[in-house]
Amino acid sequence: MPKVVTRFAPSPTGNLNVGGIRAGIFAYLFARHNGGKFIVRIEDTDKERSKKEFEDNIFESLAWLGIDIDATYRQSKHAARYEELLRKLIAEDKIYVAKEEPKEPDGRSEVIRFRNPNKIISFFDAVHGQIEFDTTELKDFIIAKSFTEPLFHFAVVVDDWDEGVTHVVRGEDHISNTPRQILIQEALGVPRPKYAHLPLIVSSDRSKLSKRKGAVAITEYKKLGYVPEAILNYDSFLGWHPAGEKEIYSKEELITEFTLDRVQKSPAMFDETKLLWFNHEHLKKLSDSEYAARLKEFAQKDVDPRLVPLLKEHAKTLKEAAKALEDEFDFLGGIAYKPEFLLQGGKITAEVASNHLKTLSEILQNIPDEGFTPAQLKDILWPYATDQGRGEVLWPLRVALSGREKSPDPFTLCSILGKAETLERIAQALQKL
Ligand code: GLU
Repeated sequence: MPKVVTRFAPSPTGNLNVGGIRAGIFAYLFARHNGGKFIVRIEDTDKERSKKEFEDNIFESLAWLGIDIDATYRQSKHAARYEELLRKLIAEDKIYVAKEEPKEPDGRSEVIRFRNPNKIISFFDAVHGQIEFDTTELKDFIIAKSFTEPLFHFAVVVDDWDEGVTHVVRGEDHISNTPRQILIQEALGVPRPKYAHLPLIVSSDRSKLSKRKGAVAITEYKKLGYVPEAILNYDSFLGWHPAGEKEIYSKEELITEFTLDRVQKSPAMFDETKLLWFNHEHLKKLSDSEYAARLKEFAQKDVDPRLVPLLKEHAKTLKEAAKALEDEFDFLGGIAYKPEFLLQGGKITAEVASNHLKTLSEILQNIPDEGFTPAQLKDILWPYATDQGRGEVLWPLRVALSGREKSPDPFTLCSILGKAETLERIAQALQKL
């Protein structure tokens, strides 16, 4: 068996989006699972629509996702090779120059057509099984506009052959191209690769993916504070999943598990909410120091290590975490608030608030430092708050500790601040009253 070689062949006509990368991810996982090679081929034969910025975006996205590439090709560099093979085929009379009625006054009057043997092509697809197709209906299709302008099907066949591609893993929209490409392979006398056509990706209302629904660039998700681990994991599940219930997989685990026989035929549903869930799960799996390092790119300042476990639980994206850091989690430095704020704008009297804060301070004095965990503090303070009225007890406490309208709950605040700082902040609040 030759070594497995797969390719991802994007056209650089737009930013790489979460739907478009799926074929690349599957081809990559399959190659790595089999100890094979993964190549990327930029299909830039459409000169008008192909742009350098999109090509850069494709490579930036692949690198960010951790998809390592063994070789890179660019179709625009293969013009001489295409011409050589077109001339060979014409010499063998397998293709011919055909006169055309020009569509416009000075339009082209010649194209190169394939001499169709009009036969049944039958091929095995790893996802769809045996497929048969009568090529008669394709007639003598156009294979190139001229010797220097091959069409897509010809370029794909030549490249797959020259690049040693053993498995063509691509979207289902290419199934109908396959018989034409096989005919060209047979005319050139080159081996037929194995095929796996991946199911369509639809949005949750079953419509096609669009800019608004699912076809969002990977680099856009990066800016929104998604982590590459989550995109890779979620995308891998668009039409495939391993045995069992487990959903959160690292790249290495995906490589270990990935086989084509577990790719489904039916359309895969792209669900933004599920992607967000994957992101949250992967964020929670990062070590605290790794989390802090990634958050720094969004928050532009160091995050206090005490806050990391809390942010991990609270925020589904790094952007959300950065916002929380500016907002309700900004209580570790000095705090400033007006005394009335302790009274919830007059709902609580100063006397009541003072009494509760004094009692809370006494209770907290008696808890050892090790007891300052949110769970233990809640166990101890909750019965008192329930008995006296939760709002009247917990509001002044929360404000005394955070000085903020919104913050984590008071038990969490006590635990993060620690015993000494908690008691100090309560004492300061009592002075204000
Ligand atoms: N360039 C084609 C596309 O972007 C892929 C061709 C192929 O995988 O054979 O859809």
